[in-house]
Amino acid sequence: MADVVVVGAGISGAATAYNLAMSGVSVTLIDRWGPAAMASGWTLAGVRQSGRHAAELPLAQAAVADWEGLAETLDAPTHYTQQGNLRLARTEAHLAQLTAMVAGQRDAGLDLVMLDQAALHDRAPAIAPDVLGASFCATDGHADPHATVAAFVAAAERAGAVLRFGEAVVAIETEAGRVSAVRTTGGRIACGGVVLATGVMGNALLAPLGLSVPMVPRAVTLLRTAPVAPVLAQVVGIADASCAGRQEVDGRFRFTGAGAPFTGTLDFPQGAWIGDRRVGPRLMPKVGDVARIAQMFGALVPATLDATLDESWVGLIDSTPDALPVIEAPAAVPGLVLGMGFSGHGFCLGPVTGRILAALAREEPPNLPIDAFRLKRFATQSAPAEPLTLHG
Ligand SMILES: Cc1cc2nc3c(=O)[nH]c(=O)nc-3n(C[C@H](O)[C@H](O)[C@H](O)COP(=O)(O)OP(=O)(O)OC[C@H]3O[C@@H](n4cnc5c(N)ncnc54)[C@H](O)[C@@H]3O)c2cc1C
Repeated sequence: MADVVVVGAGISGAATAYNLAMSGVSVTLIDRWGPAAMASGWTLAGVRQSGRHAAELPLAQAAVADWEGLAETLDAPTHYTQQGNLRLARTEAHLAQLTAMVAGQRDAGLDLVMLDQAALHDRAPAIAPDVLGASFCATDGHADPHATVAAFVAAAERAGAVLRFGEAVVAIETEAGRVSAVRTTGGRIACGGVVLATGVMGNALLAPLGLSVPMVPRAVTLLRTAPVAPVLAQVVGIADASCAGRQEVDGRFRFTGAGAPFTGTLDFPQGAWIGDRRVGPRLMPKVGDVARIAQMFGALVPATLDATLDESWVGLIDSTPDALPVIEAPAAVPGLVLGMGFSGHGFCLGPVTGRILAALAREEPPNLPIDAFRLKRFATQSAPAEPLTLHG
């Protein structure tokens, strides 16, 4: 018997299990593969407030405050670095778009500025000289996704969480309408609460409960190079979100193109072991996409063109119609908590998502505003309100 079962050991679920265990709740963290096996490993791993939807901005700002002390809190490296996010203008239209964004977000209390061409190249000499200018948020940054999720998982285990990896939850059971257990590929776990932090995979478990989060998977190709000399401290992306990237602390570049509809199946095979780590599904990109993204990012940061390509993969994004997540304890199923549909923005939010989902699982009010993330909003939304953007 667990008080709460957290399904999914991406950053959202791992951080939730950590917060629950730290508050004395008996928690089991379960993942069909293992930590960071899906989006939380596929990610670019930018930690960004700039360009956020107004509803997400308070969460992103609170998350950045958490990130600043996270490695100490978890007593393990996250490789978090806070050297800013540059959103780059290639055209006059991009400059106008960024100028408007900077004005709006400064009004919302974010320290964001416009840099002209000279100021941009002073701050980031690795950026190609023909880039016209950029918005700059000094308090944005990036982190290592595998290290961070591993740090949350290890800290959760030290605080008493039970870890079950390589095991899938196949059903949520209820008694008199309330969550009473989960059935897994390894047995049954009686519990009073379930947190679904299942990324793109969650709807199969919700359907028998009469619930569904409107999500479509979108595919994003990511390239990663071998280490090269450090030249780029910031996360960078084009204003139209056609590509984004960063240089990791060990010198590797990691960069993506824009999302595209995913036409494959979510019925993945079992995954594999690499050393002591069980890795999740590995989706390979098209050669044409790799070439196009390499050219596009190379035109922004020419040093990447001399780096050796080390690996490439396709990451899936749990994309909702308004590109905002569902974070809620739905009244229809007491004991159930949902944290999914992060739409390409959920890595930065992870530390705060964990605090919020843990509060909901304890049936306490979270101390951050989450009204905008209720499932019922989709009942009245007819058309996509916000396009998916990937900016690191
Ligand atoms: C290419 C790419 C770039 C991105 N860039 C950024 C960025 O720069 N900044 C940012 O903030 N965000 C970014 N994101 C988004 C971010 O990575 C995700 O929003 C975040 O990692 C989601 O974490 P999660 O824990 O909610 O889901 P996931 O990491 O997808 O975790 C879900 C877990 O649930 C498990 N699971 C699912 N179903 C079951 C089941 N039935 N039983 C057991 N386990 C199950 C899966 O195995 C998986 O491990 C990016 C995403 C991608 C793909």
